[in-house]
Amino acid sequence: MLHKISEPISATMSEMTRTTAMTLGLLVTMLAACAPGPMLVTAPVLRTEESAFTGTASVPTSLAPSSRSHARADERSDEPDRGRRFWVADKRFYFSKWYAGKHRKMINFGCTRAPYYAPSPLCSDDRGFHHGLDVAMACGTRLFAGLRGTVVRPKSPGSLGSAYGRFAFRLRNHRLDRDIVFGHVGKVYVQPGDRVGRGDLVALASDEGAPDGCHLHFEVRPKGGSYDQAVNPRSVVDLRLRR
Ligand SMILES: [Zn+2]
Repeated sequence: MLHKISEPISATMSEMTRTTAMTLGLLVTMLAACAPGPMLVTAPVLRTEESAFTGTASVPTSLAPSSRSHARADERSDEPDRGRRFWVADKRFYFSKWYAGKHRKMINFGCTRAPYYAPSPLCSDDRGFHHGLDVAMACGTRLFAGLRGTVVRPKSPGSLGSAYGRFAFRLRNHRLDRDIVFGHVGKVYVQPGDRVGRGDLVALASDEGAPDGCHLHFEVRPKGGSYDQAVNPRSVVDLRLRR
């Protein structure tokens, strides 16, 4: 009797197990069927996150990370940056269409007492000349094209020296007839010749080639011009205290 009772029970249980297994199998199959979409996007994004601070080779724009994956870097960069030396009296935090978050100026365009530049004949008191604007921000902060433009080929006139970091690049805006330099970037999401639209993610901030921590070196030059032709980037960077 017990045997007869237990038999159907165990049969039922094994039936249940089989059913459960089949259901699980079906779920796995369904998930696997869904996977090619998200997985193709997710895997490179993780790789991107890991390599963001080492500035490895660029990835195609289509694999650019989602805004969510960089929320942490952007949030963190809202806070005062520790361990940096600021060579400006201005302690306010600014928004800009060129980067995510709100950040402080670190070194202004023009004559500066920051010790990283050789004394310039343009400046008094042995001060050096800084050809761009440095904005302090956490490594990994997203950088955008604030204006539409074409990514300039690295070897074309006005090519960037090593002081800008290995992955620095220029974005050419034809309306202004200017090249905008993104210095000290780590990860770059665009290729030479790419046309980018306003608001497109182009790179992540880093300290690549910089002696003083993660920041964006933002520089504006005449088209094809060199660093000594750089102009005050104030109107192009368009820093704002409110969004
Ligand atoms: Zn700089």
